[in-house]
Amino acid sequence: MFSYLKEAGKATFQDRYVTKANELFVPWDGNQGGNIGVIGVPLSKSSISHSGAAFAPQAIRQALSFYSTYSVETGIDLADVVVTDYGDIMMHPTDIVESQRRIAETVEQVVALYPESKWIALGGDHSITCPVVSGWQKQKGKIGIIQFDAHHDLRNLEDGGPTNGTPFRRLIEAGVIDGSQLVQIGLRDFANSRAYTEYGKQCGVTMYTIEEVYRLGIQTIIEKSMQMLSGVDAVYVSVDMDVLDQAFAPGCPAIGPGGMDSRTLLHAISLLARYDKVQAMDIVEIDPTIDFRQMTSRLAAWVILQFLKEKSGRQPG
Ligand code: CA
Repeated sequence: MFSYLKEAGKATFQDRYVTKANELFVPWDGNQGGNIGVIGVPLSKSSISHSGAAFAPQAIRQALSFYSTYSVETGIDLADVVVTDYGDIMMHPTDIVESQRRIAETVEQVVALYPESKWIALGGDHSITCPVVSGWQKQKGKIGIIQFDAHHDLRNLEDGGPTNGTPFRRLIEAGVIDGSQLVQIGLRDFANSRAYTEYGKQCGVTMYTIEEVYRLGIQTIIEKSMQMLSGVDAVYVSVDMDVLDQAFAPGCPAIGPGGMDSRTLLHAISLLARYDKVQAMDIVEIDPTIDFRQMTSRLAAWVILQFLKEKSGRQPG
């Protein structure tokens, strides 16, 4: 009846030959889970510094609309890939520990329902990785974690409880992983303290500084990391966007110079996603309220597309 009316919020321009990446996300209908599931984990009250990372799941989903599904590098088109979007976990308004409990319970439930799915969790601050991994691990047995981060996130619990500085210490102390099942990539000067480097070493954590990333090359580091984790059943990749230089990720609460460039991170995700054992990933520490032109959320969208390209786009074998 009205030729020029469109649904509010829909794209103002539609090219018949272009599929937008956000169209791959299909809300879970309560019945069917896809091969890949995404779940929003909007918790950032647990951050040591000011953070609006709770707004990131929606910002990242929205940023996918800036991109198409076609890879000119490989010829792969993801247009037929279905990513089941389970929505966001509801957080308690004031109780952080209760929110983290809800995260672990919900992740455990959805993963139990679709244990063969690959999972992408959209944080949130880095505290979410502890409950997300705890819930996911219950279906997976012995797991390994590859953490991209400027920081160890091995802080003590006494000074502040389960903040975004503590997730990997909590996972080690709870026995979800042994320190030898954790690889940290991209650690930076003046962002950590000696006590936590030593604690990590005592626990057997493998650590690569940003200087080593560029000296050895990311491919070598990924190969060594996966070799280190060859005895585990499944690998979880945790992407703290502050591993990136502040020039590439201005929307992180803890920005700093001397970090990773975006191509190196994207290449690393692509290399990792080629391993069958890599079965889950989170993206954390984006505060859309301080981001610049959605640069950090756009990069997060690319991290997702790199993961999908390898997990769904390439033919087996
Ligand atoms: Ca972190």
